[in-house]
Amino acid sequence: MTVQVHRIYNFSAGPAVLPEAVLEEAQRDLMALPGVGMSVMEISHRSTTFDEIIHGAEADLRALGGIPDTYKVLFLQGGASLQFSMVPMNLLTPGSTADYIVTGDWAKKALKEAKKVGATAVAASTEAEQFNRVPRQSELTLTPGAAYVHMTSNNTIVGTQAHEVPQVDAPLVCDASSDMYSRPIDISTFALIYAGAQKNLGPSGVTVVIVRDDLLARSSDQLPSMLNLKLMAENKSLYNTPPVFGIYILRLVLKWMRSQGGLEAIGRVNERKATLLYDELDRSGFWRPHAESGSRSRMNVTFRLPSEELEKTFVKESTAAGFDGLKGHRSVGGLRASIYNAFPEAGVAALVEFMREFERRNG
Ligand code: PMP
Repeated sequence: MTVQVHRIYNFSAGPAVLPEAVLEEAQRDLMALPGVGMSVMEISHRSTTFDEIIHGAEADLRALGGIPDTYKVLFLQGGASLQFSMVPMNLLTPGSTADYIVTGDWAKKALKEAKKVGATAVAASTEAEQFNRVPRQSELTLTPGAAYVHMTSNNTIVGTQAHEVPQVDAPLVCDASSDMYSRPIDISTFALIYAGAQKNLGPSGVTVVIVRDDLLARSSDQLPSMLNLKLMAENKSLYNTPPVFGIYILRLVLKWMRSQGGLEAIGRVNERKATLLYDELDRSGFWRPHAESGSRSRMNVTFRLPSEELEKTFVKESTAAGFDGLKGHRSVGGLRASIYNAFPEAGVAALVEFMREFERRNG
């Protein structure tokens, strides 16, 4: 039986829109995986069926991102927020310092957790400029011999994105929660990269961590087992019951990404979508884009209107017109359009149409 559904344009920052092909396949196989007779949520995580799913997910992640063999791929729980703690607990060895590049609230949270574990330093912060850009290379103050440097590649709340990877000597750790696999990536520039899946990769509940083998030597045996990256890697993410449903959907999303032509093709579409929207924001003084042009995010487009009153009207009218999730994050206000991989180009074009009409009436 095909269920007739009406889907609206979902601009949510996360959990966010998933590819329809993925939802359809999951729906079709929810009662029983073909040839298995049970759903993915009802089978052992140690069964051959699940083995194929988790290995398939890892193989596709590796193929799409060109992950070198010297890296482990982990599927963990606790969201990106748990990595804010796990990263320093595993990598910030006694006597060393971790450098943090502070580009938004998520970076601040990552730093806050690291401070509980050991010595930290702020390599750069753009907070004085309302985080409207990411720092330039020349602005970084790096600690010689740092345990690692932590960066956030895309700042979901303020809508900025690092378009160049900082040059650092220490191992580079990256929170890529909101732009992971949204464009080609050179994994080898990072020592560890992590992302909650719920924006570009799948549902919430599964966190992807890609870590270079040599870093795992730092994990102390004294760490709680569930927080020990080395132990998680040794057990191939199966130390305990993993988030099976999340990994299953992730697998389908990765398959979809491959069908789209991989990260090059996906990156081109994302760039086109973002350009369409930013061009509209730049067209007149009515719209006030938040991010400085060189730091604009292709994932989260943030902007303000001449008054908060108009912003409220915009949210109300856009919601009524079938656009969901355009209200900015509660901490910064304004408006935000999140246009992750699975967000359709037609939805961006429709939003631009709506914006033109809104400006005509209110500009
Ligand atoms: N980092 C970034 C950049 C994020 O956007 C988010 C969530 N929006 C987080 C970390 C926290 O992720 P989680 O909710 O998976 O812990």
